[in-house]
Amino acid sequence: MPVRRPPPPSLELSEAEMREMVGRAMDRIVPFIAELPRAPMHRMDGAHKLVRALREPMPERGASFRRLLGQLFERVLPFGLNTASPGYTAYIPGGGLFHAAVADLITDATNRYVGIWQAAPGLVQLETNVIRWFCDLAGFPAGSGGLLTTGGSLANLGAVVTARHDRLPPDFLKGRLYVSAAVHHSVQKAARVAGFPDEAVRIVPVDSRFRLDVAALEAAVTADRAAGFVPAMVVASAGTTATGAIDPIPALADLCVREGMWFHVDAAYGGFFLLTERGRARLAGIERADSITLDPHKGLFLPYGTGCLVVRDLARLRAAHQLSASYLPHAEADPDCWDFSDLGPELSRDARGVRVWLPLKMHGAGVFRAQLDEKLDLAEVVAEAIRARPELELVAEPELSLLAFRVRHPDPTEGDGLTRQLATHINRRQRVLLTGVELSGRYLLRVCVLSFRTHAAEIAALIEDLDAAMADGAHRLPRPSAR
Ligand SMILES: *Cc1c(COP(=O)(O)O)cnc(C)c1O
Repeated sequence: MPVRRPPPPSLELSEAEMREMVGRAMDRIVPFIAELPRAPMHRMDGAHKLVRALREPMPERGASFRRLLGQLFERVLPFGLNTASPGYTAYIPGGGLFHAAVADLITDATNRYVGIWQAAPGLVQLETNVIRWFCDLAGFPAGSGGLLTTGGSLANLGAVVTARHDRLPPDFLKGRLYVSAAVHHSVQKAARVAGFPDEAVRIVPVDSRFRLDVAALEAAVTADRAAGFVPAMVVASAGTTATGAIDPIPALADLCVREGMWFHVDAAYGGFFLLTERGRARLAGIERADSITLDPHKGLFLPYGTGCLVVRDLARLRAAHQLSASYLPHAEADPDCWDFSDLGPELSRDARGVRVWLPLKMHGAGVFRAQLDEKLDLAEVVAEAIRARPELELVAEPELSLLAFRVRHPDPTEGDGLTRQLATHINRRQRVLLTGVELSGRYLLRVCVLSFRTHAAEIAALIEDLDAAMADGAHRLPRPSAR
C-alpha cells in the first residue's frame, strides 16, 4: 500500500506571480544595463572573500525572489570582468544582445524539445534556417549544413571528430593534425578529447605577420608521410585570438586538396566579418573549407553559449555522429529535416536557434553589417593612434578589428616589462580593458573591438587613457633611484 501524503507544494506560478517575477527581474536588469558605461571594467578586490561567503549547503527552505535578486545584482555580478561593458576590448568581446535573452525566456518557458526533428519541427526549422544563412554567408554549396553549439570550442571539437572519422581508419593514432603556433588552444583540446595523443597535433611556425607558414607546413607534411604518419587535417585560423592574423586560406585549401587532408577554418573570431565587404575580401577562399567554426556570441554580439559549426558536406558530419536508439523515433526521410542529435554529441539541448533567429529577423543583416563595419573602422582609428606615437610599435596591424602593439625598446625584455606596465596603467583607469599575449617570446598588448556597445566615444577614451598612461611615464624605465 503506497503511503498517503498531502500533495506537495506547487512549483507552478500563478499568472500574477509570473508577471511579477519578470517585472522584478526587469527592475534590476534595466538599471544594470543603463549603468554599464559608468560601471568599473574589472573588480577582483574582495572576490575571495565573496566566494567564501557564497558557499552554502543546499537549502531546505526557500527564500524570497526579491532577496535572491538583491544577492545576484549587489553581491555576485559586480565581481570579475565587466564583459558586457562598452569599454570591454579585452580577449574577444561578446556583447549580449537583450533580444537573445528574451528569446531564451520564451524557449525556456515553453520548453520544447529540439534534439530530434519530430519533437519540435518548427523550432528545428528556425535553427536550420540560421545554419542555412551561415552556410550561404560562407559560400558553401547545397548539401552543406551544421549545428549551433555552446561555443567555438565545441564547434572545433565537432570538426576534429568529423575529420578523424572521414580521413582516418578506426585505428587513427598515426593521424596528424596541423595548426599554427598561434592557433586557439581549443583545437589542441579538441584533438585530445577526440582521442589523439598530444603529439598528433603538429605546431607549424608562423611568419612575421603571425600567419601559418605554408612552406613549413608542406615540409612537415612531407616529413610525416615519410615517417609513416597520416596527415589528416589542417586548421587555419581566421583570425587568431592573439593578434587577429588570418592564415593564408587559399594556399592552405590547395595544399589540403593535394594531400587529401580535411581543411577546417577556425573563424570563431573573424567569421561574421563575412557580412562586410572588407571582411569578405580578407577571408577570401573560406568557401573552400570542409568545415568552419563561427561564434555568434562574438561576431553577432549574442550572449555567451552560442557557437556554430558548418560543414561543406552535412553527410560527413552526420556520419561521424549518428547513432540510432530503440527509444527514439526513426530519422526523418526528408533530408532537409535534421535531427540535431545526429550532428553532435548532445541529445537534449536548449532551443538555441531562436536566440540567433530573433535578433537577425528583427533587425535584418544590414544592421549587423553596419555594426561590424564600424568595428573595422574603430580598430583602424586605434591603429592610426599607435602609428602616430613613436614610443609605441604596432606589431600586428588590424586585419579585421583586432590589433597588437608594444612599447618600443632596444632590449626586448625591458620592452615586455614596460608594455605590461602600460597595460596596468590603462586598465587602472577602469574605462577600457586591454589584455596581453605572449607570442614568439614577446609580450604584446591587444585591442579587440567587437562589442555592439563599443563606439567612437569608447575608442576616444581608450586613446585618452593610453596617452594618460604614457604621460604618467608608464612606457619609460624608472629613473635610477637617488639613493
Ligand atoms: C574564442 C575562440 C575560440 C573558442 O571559442 P569559445 O566560444 O570560447 O569556446 C576558438 N577559436 C578562436 C579563434 C576563438 O577566437
